[in-house]
Amino acid sequence: MRTTRFAAAACAIALAFGAVNYEAEGKLWWAHVQYLASDQLQGRDTGSEGYRKAAAYVAGKFKEDGLDPAGTDGYYQPVKFEVCQIVDDKSTAALVNSDGAVEALKMGDDIVASLNPDTSRDLEAPAVFVGYGLDVPEKNYNDLDGVDLKGKIAVYLSGIPAGMPGPLAAHSQSLKERWDPLREAGAIGTIRLSNPHSMDLPWQRIALARFNPHMTFAEPGLRPANGLQLSMAMNPASTDKLLAGTGHTLDDLVKLADKHAPLPHFDLNRMVRVHIEMNQHEVEAPNVAAVLRGTDPKLEREYVVMSAHLDHLGVGKPINGDSIYNGAMDNASGVASELEIARLLHEEQTSLRRSILFVAVTGEEKGLLGSQYFAAHPTVPAGSMVADINLDMFLPLYPLHYLMTIGLNESTLGDKIRAVASREGVEVQDDKMPERNLFIRSDQYSFVKEGVPALMFGFGSLPGSREEKVFEQWIQTRYHAPSDDVNQPVDLAAAAKFNDVMLHLLVDVANDNARPAWKHDSFFARFASGR
Ligand SMILES: [Zn+2]
Repeated sequence: MRTTRFAAAACAIALAFGAVNYEAEGKLWWAHVQYLASDQLQGRDTGSEGYRKAAAYVAGKFKEDGLDPAGTDGYYQPVKFEVCQIVDDKSTAALVNSDGAVEALKMGDDIVASLNPDTSRDLEAPAVFVGYGLDVPEKNYNDLDGVDLKGKIAVYLSGIPAGMPGPLAAHSQSLKERWDPLREAGAIGTIRLSNPHSMDLPWQRIALARFNPHMTFAEPGLRPANGLQLSMAMNPASTDKLLAGTGHTLDDLVKLADKHAPLPHFDLNRMVRVHIEMNQHEVEAPNVAAVLRGTDPKLEREYVVMSAHLDHLGVGKPINGDSIYNGAMDNASGVASELEIARLLHEEQTSLRRSILFVAVTGEEKGLLGSQYFAAHPTVPAGSMVADINLDMFLPLYPLHYLMTIGLNESTLGDKIRAVASREGVEVQDDKMPERNLFIRSDQYSFVKEGVPALMFGFGSLPGSREEKVFEQWIQTRYHAPSDDVNQPVDLAAAAKFNDVMLHLLVDVANDNARPAWKHDSFFARFASGR
């Protein structure tokens, strides 16, 4: 007899964790990761043949698991993208003094450019340092106040001023929220200065990533940053070249930013001159969507979304001789979890009141593009998506005792995950690294902006623990590197346990009488008005 994990399967509300063989289930989960992150799929870059194979695999599994197609073309929802790729050796940048003296900047070593169809091929403009570069009306905070930005490049230091809650800070730092007020103030571009204390990646890896193609929507009306003629990031080690003659150094600014203290605003002494050559073309890649129908005559028209991005970075510059960025944890792992959860729901014939909408999205690594498209053009009626449970790089590198939950205090979904996790003996932790902006860095954010309450997860740990070090080490060495592949140590049983917790969360949300709701004091509740 097959064991069922739902000890009280007949009772829709109180589901208990049944006997589950996590070792065996972990292997099934890993098999999906092994295929999706295999060299054969070439890193699943959006628009590539490898991505198409991955999409076909996911659609095939959805079908096997009895899910109905929920795309616009079977299981697919095709999305068109405009690709911009730098011709690095023909692109140049320099700083120009008022006396005409020119100091060349080296692409990669000093700066990297992020491209879009509005990127200016030739540009020379004055620059102004605008602190954190944020305009947050709800906190009466505006770095642009009284600053003349007309025709200028806004230079800012990444960071958060004091008194800014994590989610609000994260939202304010998204490309669109940051760029909109700058454009309105007349700015033509941005240069981001990084605080070396809060960088995810060593500069060397950021420099290598400049060769990756940049993408945005083919349809101009959908693009988040129209009019952005220059978008650059500067190596902390080179930043004082830009600040020369202003009386400020990066070190001084970082000391203030580390304390979340106010930053000065000042004109830079040197003009920024840039020549960019880039290649442009259009590609298409699908989101993959499938639905498991609910059984409640009314609630089946509401959808609990489970999302995970299927794309990764493709083939790039080699690191240690390996040029395939396989993206095993980022995010073959999340898609594999979706597939496992769909399989388990199918095999256990779990009865659900609401419908579950499984979406494997494209273009996440290019700026959450696939999810943004899906959330704005859902294949189900607008307003019928009641929650998004997003799975992205949850990192099962050690046993699951702590579950870090992004968005925990924003909606009633936070109460749900607390209840579900405690039944499994897992302690829920709040976002421990708000400065990493995780709430806006994965696909849940696309749903949040459409008013849909959402959560995202990662394996948690205690401060100073071995697990915390394992996590930090992973980010430093494997995150967005070719070594995030299938030859790394992963705790398969822990991944299966995570899937089990997610499965129960999904079932609880699908079967609850109440639709998930934003907390009244959540900043993000505003996006739900009018739904
Ligand atoms: Zn990623």
